[in-house]
Amino acid sequence: MLRSLFLAAAGSARLERLVESTPAGSGVVRRFVAGSGADEALATTRELADDGLAVSLVHLGTGTETLEQAQAVRDEHVALLARLRAAGLTPAAEVSVKLSELGQRLDERVAFEHAHAICAAAAEAGTTVTLDAEDHTTTDATLETLLELRRDFPSTGAALQAYLRRTEGDCRELAVAGSRVRLCKGAYAEPESVAFQSPLDVDKSYVRCLNVLMSGEGYPMVATHDPRLIAIAEDRARWFDRSTGECEFQLLHGVRPEEQARLAAGGHTVRVYLPYGKQWFGYLMRRFAERPANVAYFAKAISAR
Ligand code: FAD
Repeated sequence: MLRSLFLAAAGSARLERLVESTPAGSGVVRRFVAGSGADEALATTRELADDGLAVSLVHLGTGTETLEQAQAVRDEHVALLARLRAAGLTPAAEVSVKLSELGQRLDERVAFEHAHAICAAAAEAGTTVTLDAEDHTTTDATLETLLELRRDFPSTGAALQAYLRRTEGDCRELAVAGSRVRLCKGAYAEPESVAFQSPLDVDKSYVRCLNVLMSGEGYPMVATHDPRLIAIAEDRARWFDRSTGECEFQLLHGVRPEEQARLAAGGHTVRVYLPYGKQWFGYLMRRFAERPANVAYFAKAISAR
């Protein structure tokens, strides 16, 4: 029930204003989201970099419905990359990109060209781009785009979702030299025909994929907050002799910060997935819907106003 409440709240402009207008409320926002604009994104990136953390910035878009919007999303990323470079925040900071925001559903070629322009801006800034994984109907198109982008920008990375039955095979294809793969569980509601449904089956698939990536030639990016999977990834990194710079851990901004610090202190590269943009409120509510334990934190901050 709480989950539905928070998902419903995601559309409430009134609640959004309430959260934003209280010092405590905006403190909650800042725990999970950099803020609504590039200035805040840069400031938070600086703080995280000062703590020894790498960052992947993700722009929270409105959902692209026109080619003009797709172009604006491209311009936002290109401008951000130039600012990251000017601020000396690259290569510690990279960007994550959703191809749907670049118009993938409207015109795959246009989305590719926009992604290419972002990769070029990233290369000029001395950093990289990772393609987010979206729902399963986009996986083939996203991986084709990845292969094409990697011809000009070999360090372009992509996220793969362990809940998809196909992913172990995709890991095998992508576990090649220079290939950066972010392995996550997967965040969309997917049918049984394409995705494992039970948490145990998803975890088992995650470990199989991890084994493929860690034993392969590429650069695994372990994106999970799950203590058991993190422990297994640490074990595999040791077993396959991967030292610092040969794999990394990724966690969402504000989630398990003590674990982020522990991994970084242990010599691992830790990258924080840092969202920013005007659509921060919906993102925040979805994080609460995902994990009811965060609700108490939220309620306490709001009632303290
Ligand atoms: P869960 O099954 O949600 O949690 C497992 C355990 O982890 C919990 O039992 C708890 O012990 C611990 N835990 C989880 N959350 C918390 C918390 N908030 N506080 C304390 N402990 C917690 N999904 C996509 O579909 N596409 C993407 O491109 C994508 N990119 C991602 C990038 C990053 C860096 C991360 C971290 C996630 C990304 N995801 C993406 C989301 C991902 O697929 C999962 O939906 C999300 O990470 C939750 O799964 P989990 O691995 O944390 O494990």
